[in-house]
Amino acid sequence: MTVYLDGAYLPRAQALVPVDDRGFLFGDGVYEVTRALDGRLFEWERHLRRLARGLDGLGIVLPEGGRLEAGQLLEVSERLLEENELGTGDATVYLQITRGVAERRHHFPPPGTAPTVFLSASRLAMPDELRARGAAAVTTADLRWERCDLKTINLLPNVLAKQQAVAAGAFEAILVRDGIVTEGASSNVLAVIGGGLTTHPATHRILAGITREVVLELAAELGLRVTLDPIPLNALSRASEVMVTATTADVMPVVKVDGRAIGDGQPGPVARRLHAALRARMQRAGKRAAAGASGP
Ligand code: PMP
Repeated sequence: MTVYLDGAYLPRAQALVPVDDRGFLFGDGVYEVTRALDGRLFEWERHLRRLARGLDGLGIVLPEGGRLEAGQLLEVSERLLEENELGTGDATVYLQITRGVAERRHHFPPPGTAPTVFLSASRLAMPDELRARGAAAVTTADLRWERCDLKTINLLPNVLAKQQAVAAGAFEAILVRDGIVTEGASSNVLAVIGGGLTTHPATHRILAGITREVVLELAAELGLRVTLDPIPLNALSRASEVMVTATTADVMPVVKVDGRAIGDGQPGPVARRLHAALRARMQRAGKRAAAGASGP
């Protein structure tokens, strides 16, 4: 597999980062996982905006006009998809930028220290069988910091929460803070309550997922009532449907939380419709991009 590291395309095993990289030492960086379908990135501009916001939030400065220009990141992503024979089907592009390599100290390294930039592309095996059955989730305390809106590589609370889910044979851990469902360990949580679709508003308490944003738009287009309200944990068990959204899972119905069935314990109609609408939008976007690329 070919990956990109700091300007070079390399076999993955040869892409090595110095031990003084601040990503390694402090988890000091941001990342994005972008969906690709048939070699085209889906909602790339939104990912780029979120990345820019994250870099800004952490004060990581990219060299001006250098190899990190937005257009170039897109070019690198598409080249990785092509070189790794991911030009058809579902894939993801992983992008990580850390504050770079510098002598270990907590505060920022000298201005001009080059950020470390890493990208790779991988095949995405969609969990379609699980989607048909519906997934299980467990709830656990949200132990994270006050800037969950930044997509940083500092993922220890998410790692611990996901491990709890996996140990319990579940797909996702639903994070709960002060009795409120914030999001999943690596997904957003949406629920159908009183016939309408609701999810936590995009505050500092959650990562505003790209899939969440697109799904909320699609829900409105389908005529569903959409509200952005924090969901109390005790309301979740009374929801007629619960689902999680993420780039790597699309819309995944959750049919069991902490061992108790949601609704009738089967994937519900809203999750099914939203998933179909998301796939359709992805396919339309891919076709438009292909037509644009071959046009004049
Ligand atoms: N919340 C968290 C904590 C996540 O890690 C992710 C996925 N990286 C999401 C939500 C979903 O975001 P997206 O739809 O952009 O993949």
